[in-house]
Amino acid sequence: MNHTPRAPACLHQPLAESPLGSVSICPECGVVQLTMDAVSVRLDMEAFHLATQMMVQARSRVHALMDERARHAAMAVQPAAVSTVH
Ligand SMILES: [Zn+2]
Repeated sequence: MNHTPRAPACLHQPLAESPLGSVSICPECGVVQLTMDAVSVRLDMEAFHLATQMMVQARSRVHALMDERARHAAMAVQPAAVSTVH
């Protein structure tokens, strides 16, 4: 992490924001900072890339599990009860 005397500490150029938090990058050293509530994680480019791949993979598996649960729940519901669901 090399910073110029002009910028001795990391800069925070915003990359993305959501109600959960934000992602910024330091253009000086390339460190990506993920901030969520009181938690802040600093990752280099490679670690950030690996973390996002891992999260995307986890998300698709969570969706698959949720779909499976929804199918099981739908099968457990009696047809008469289904008609009352809006
Ligand atoms: Zn920096």
